Amino acid sequence: MMNTTLMNNQQTKVDTPYTRFLTTLNAVLDHMNADEEVRAIFEHPQHIHKKTVSLMRDDGSTEDYPAFRVQFNNARGPYKGGIRFHPEADLEEVKALSALMAIKTAVVDVPFGGAKGGIQCEPKGMSRKELEALSREYIRVMGDAIGPYTDCPAPDVNTNSMIMGWMRDEYETISGVFSPGVVTGKPLEYGGSQGRDEATARGGFFVLEEVLERAAIDPSEQRVAIQGFGNAGAAIAQFLHEKGYTIVALSDSKGGIYSREGIDPFRINKYKKKTGQVRGLYCEESICDAGRMQADGIELISPKDIITCDCDILVPAALDNVITARNAGDIKAEFILELANGPTTPEADAILEKKGVRVIPDVLANAGGVTVSYFEWTQGRSGEQWTADRVDSELKRIILGAYREVRREARREGLSYRHAAFLLGIKRMLKTMRVRGWCNGSC
Ligand code: GLU
Repeated sequence: MMNTTLMNNQQTKVDTPYTRFLTTLNAVLDHMNADEEVRAIFEHPQHIHKKTVSLMRDDGSTEDYPAFRVQFNNARGPYKGGIRFHPEADLEEVKALSALMAIKTAVVDVPFGGAKGGIQCEPKGMSRKELEALSREYIRVMGDAIGPYTDCPAPDVNTNSMIMGWMRDEYETISGVFSPGVVTGKPLEYGGSQGRDEATARGGFFVLEEVLERAAIDPSEQRVAIQGFGNAGAAIAQFLHEKGYTIVALSDSKGGIYSREGIDPFRINKYKKKTGQVRGLYCEESICDAGRMQADGIELISPKDIITCDCDILVPAALDNVITARNAGDIKAEFILELANGPTTPEADAILEKKGVRVIPDVLANAGGVTVSYFEWTQGRSGEQWTADRVDSELKRIILGAYREVRREARREGLSYRHAAFLLGIKRMLKTMRVRGWCNGSC
């Protein structure tokens, strides 16, 4: 993940997900004329837990993986944020993601702080038994750092409700205490909430619909390209297709497809489930059925090329750092809806702003996930079970409220939506810190 670029003053500047976060943060703190005390609060996470998880593979061998939990800030409530299993989930990435969570929970004004976790491993190809052992071991090594009123994990890249169920069970086994709130994104049968699986996509969908309505744009004339076909990407493709948008491109880590006439994501999802890839309807490994592709008007496209393909709305829904200074100038989309965390670098942001591309930033666009996590957490506390309709309408109310506040802040301060969302989140965090006496009058 880490690479270095030579600056023109001959100094070497390290470029990591966390330094990219700091670049955006510092631009906003400069705008606020923040003093040193405030800057110090946001510069570093409050706690970094770096451990090793050992996994006994099915063949009897043992593998060790670095495991992280970074707790960025808990001024507004328990630390909150997902856990990812990914080969690139290193400390710098998890730090950046924890900071984005703190801003995100404040933007949607749910009573949580921000954290993130990760195991730096390749989970693809692991058996169910191995995944379970890995998930339980993570909870064991993190010990007291995790808890329903301390820090509540959730799913993220390559983790899901099944994994959250194991994690809750492990926590309750160790503590001996019924603790539904220790993780969110759990299975429905074990303390989960209606609508949690689709919540990230649902929230992004609500915001996008509102943005287009304000711009008097007809969805049926919009062509959408989606990078990533995991939990968020697959769900938003289906919501948009049902609403009359034309899905022109889809991809996963193995490859992508493009069609001018449009793709039916329900059909693609069926084959993705069967074959493990978005191209599964047309290809078996690298051998593709040209006749079938031609009949459906399908061309192959790489996940990288999806970013610059011919479309109106681009939805990065996979990993960070995919829209960079290298490709931002070639982007054709008019709108970018960031369902992934950290997909756009600060340099790319500046290029997109100049081009007039409207970016709906991650800390707003994908905040539906943590919003419904909050609903799940409160249901765990009260023992109530909300209907799917209640979850949906509360999510809509909260995320559109957040969107309107970000928009107002952007107008008032003359900022991009990303900077306005950061400003809104930072101001909310500072307000709570002030009443808690965490800063000596400077915040
Ligand atoms: N992993 C999700 C995110 O990045 C959800 C976090 C949560 O629900 O705590 O927002």
